[in-house]
Amino acid sequence: MIKFLTGCLLLCFSIAALFAVDQRPNLVIIMTDDQGYGDVGFNGCKDIPTPHIDRIAREGVRFTNGYVTYPVCSPSRAGLITGRYQGRFGYRRNPTLNPFDEMAGLPLEEENIAEILHKVGYHNGIIGKWHLGTHPKFRPNARGFDEFYGFVAGGHRYFPEDLIYSDIESVDRKGGWYNTKLLRNETRVETDEYLTDEFSNEGVDFIERNAEKPFFLYLTYNAPHTPIQASQKYLDRFTHIEDKLRRTYAAMVSAVDDGVGRVIDKLDEHDLAENTLVFFLSDNGGATNNGSINAPLRGKKGMVYDGGLRVPFAFRWTGKIPSGIDYDHPVSSMDMLGTMVGLTGVEIAADRSLDGVNLMPFLTGENSSAPHDYLFWRMFDKEHTAVRSGSDKLVTIDPESKTSLYRISDDIDESADISNANAERTDLLDNKLKEWSSQLKPAIFDPLGTWDPSVSRE
Ligand code: CA
Repeated sequence: MIKFLTGCLLLCFSIAALFAVDQRPNLVIIMTDDQGYGDVGFNGCKDIPTPHIDRIAREGVRFTNGYVTYPVCSPSRAGLITGRYQGRFGYRRNPTLNPFDEMAGLPLEEENIAEILHKVGYHNGIIGKWHLGTHPKFRPNARGFDEFYGFVAGGHRYFPEDLIYSDIESVDRKGGWYNTKLLRNETRVETDEYLTDEFSNEGVDFIERNAEKPFFLYLTYNAPHTPIQASQKYLDRFTHIEDKLRRTYAAMVSAVDDGVGRVIDKLDEHDLAENTLVFFLSDNGGATNNGSINAPLRGKKGMVYDGGLRVPFAFRWTGKIPSGIDYDHPVSSMDMLGTMVGLTGVEIAADRSLDGVNLMPFLTGENSSAPHDYLFWRMFDKEHTAVRSGSDKLVTIDPESKTSLYRISDDIDESADISNANAERTDLLDNKLKEWSSQLKPAIFDPLGTWDPSVSRE
């Protein structure tokens, strides 16, 4: 009898173990930087082929209304990585890059996706741009990542000969943070390749080394953020584009696309397609000074029109979600964490309510309603706000000017203000926005540009 019970227990444990493994799919988030909504093939781009990025949408789901939480880099990344509106914890602008500033980063009490996935045994790696604090206490290895290969500031130069500073603490002029050597965890390294290729190599290597574990790979390319620099290999593909800025931008996007292809091939080589969620998105809309195009959307990076907020957004999970479909309800970058929490059942800190939701029931058809009744945005220094509900979007560019209501489904470029004819709807959205805004905290750190290393090295 005892033997029988022990056998049963062992069997139960084995099933539980199997079940636990099944509940821990790998996660790969591939994020580009300042790439335009219109600059991927799956959103209609004609002059820059992106066959590998398109493959994520073709073999998975293309989100036609995929949003980030802020129209510039760092706050958007804070929203993605915590699954929460970053304004809730005062992360409301790009922070100063001062590595001696103990306020300028993702607050330590805000659990991020790597810290959360660590609790259920994930091996976490970030490759590329961090931009959530430069002080040692904010860096990736202190924030749930087992592996870090990249840089901590908001952008970087792309050729190895430009990387001259040993680290950001030794930078002695504004902008010099673009010229630091890369870090492998806490150690600076010498590199010899075009930066985007460097990150792609590392991404492929990370999967090769960790194929047997549940892993989270955050591959966060700084391309195609300025400076606009591409290697000859990629420039040669675009001799037909006359405009030099657009040509170089195209080459940068093409380099990313090659890398995405290599990463997906590596997943497939290890037979991981059915056990790996792959999300692709840009951290905010195209900046346009980099040659990006957000058309048909209005506006660009730094604006609360859709050109600043709605980004290329696709999700592949072979065999688990449909392939080759469009999903049109608005979704958020915060939903990546919501989805992982839903899939793994991992417990999050009791005082942290997530704004991101689990997208799985919506993608499998189990739930046909919209994942979000409302999505909100509020910039801090400019006081620009927006709220989207269904196909309606209310935009206020500053508190003094008139608030405009756009019906995005009929008016993708937010050109026809229908607020006068829809006063009740306008008031409702405005009230919802105010209610949400009242939950936000004031900015907790100084803005980008306030630290001048030529004046103060601390
Ligand atoms: Ca960005």
